[in-house]
Amino acid sequence: MSGGDKIDFEIRPSAAPVSAAERAAMVANPGFGRIFTDHMAIVRYAEGKGWYDARVEARAPLPMDPASAVLHYAQEIFEGLKAYPTPDGGVAMFRPDANAARFAQSAARMAMPVVPTELFLASLREIITIDREWMPDSEDGSLYLRPFAFASEVFLGVRPAMEYLYLVIASPVGPYFAGGVQPVSVWVSPDFTRAAPGGTGAAKCGGNYAAGLSAQAEAIAHDCEQVVYLDAVQRTYVDELGGMNVMFVMDDGSLVTPPLSGTILPGITRDSVLRLAERSGRAVQERPVGFDEWRTGAASGRIREVFACGTAAVITPIGTVRHPGGEFTVADGGPGEVTMGLRQELVDIQRGRADDPFGWVH
Ligand code: PMP
Repeated sequence: MSGGDKIDFEIRPSAAPVSAAERAAMVANPGFGRIFTDHMAIVRYAEGKGWYDARVEARAPLPMDPASAVLHYAQEIFEGLKAYPTPDGGVAMFRPDANAARFAQSAARMAMPVVPTELFLASLREIITIDREWMPDSEDGSLYLRPFAFASEVFLGVRPAMEYLYLVIASPVGPYFAGGVQPVSVWVSPDFTRAAPGGTGAAKCGGNYAAGLSAQAEAIAHDCEQVVYLDAVQRTYVDELGGMNVMFVMDDGSLVTPPLSGTILPGITRDSVLRLAERSGRAVQERPVGFDEWRTGAASGRIREVFACGTAAVITPIGTVRHPGGEFTVADGGPGEVTMGLRQELVDIQRGRADDPFGWVH
């Protein structure tokens, strides 16, 4: 495919789909990322040929040559978004065009070919359509969509590969919080940073997550669920969490979040929260926030609430903040009023229960 030509998916339904009874049992208690739908979308790319051979077929292991470039040099990117059941019995995706744009930016950073937006959106629509029955019908369930692409060329030279695969798999997921929204505890890592200026922090590439696993293990060893990364240069400013962006609610009601400086992932939830806040007249500021400002602001009351935001948990209050010098909470570390208000507003739009002023729901 070249220059945005339309590409159609060949649909080959699975010859052995999971039975309705088995599926119902699996979807009733899905957890996160453990069960998968019957199908996958797969598209091939070759240098000079473009994207070709788009199919929807039974989800199956991928035959992989041991010299496939991705296994050695990690040329891989991914996305994560959810489709939600709507009150009228339909299915809605939340801002998939924003995921398409971020996927394209990640591709550019990793010297990979861009999946055109229309192909990206079509692949998601095809999977949702064929695996519609896998959508949990619970209040809080959703179908998590995982588009990803990697270098499939069989070659050990270090250069951008000339062959790639793009796939979409889907996984029914339950509510992130089983018993209502719970604060997340965070560990401020003294040793590990996530992304330096000029690095890959703004790209959603697998390598960023591999590099974060030691910090994540350190967090768990300190009884915390997520890592807070400080900036790699001064080790002073708050960048983000391992899988979520951070927002501060100040005592004047304004919302403050670290800027998109190239070292943090430009979260789609982050952007949505900023736009909703602005729309309701709340002041928002994208500026560096020092860890010291967080700590002293918590003590003085200048900072009223702190929350994390991302696709998985939408908006989550940050409870205990643990660091090598001790620990603290902002206010009582419980869900704050502004946090929960923004959360409700966003969830209602995502699930088609409220007006969609920005045209986010597809
Ligand atoms: N930061 C990181 C490192 C993440 O992995 C994620 C999850 N994609 C986010 C922030 C939040 O991004 P989004 O709101 O688009 O899910």
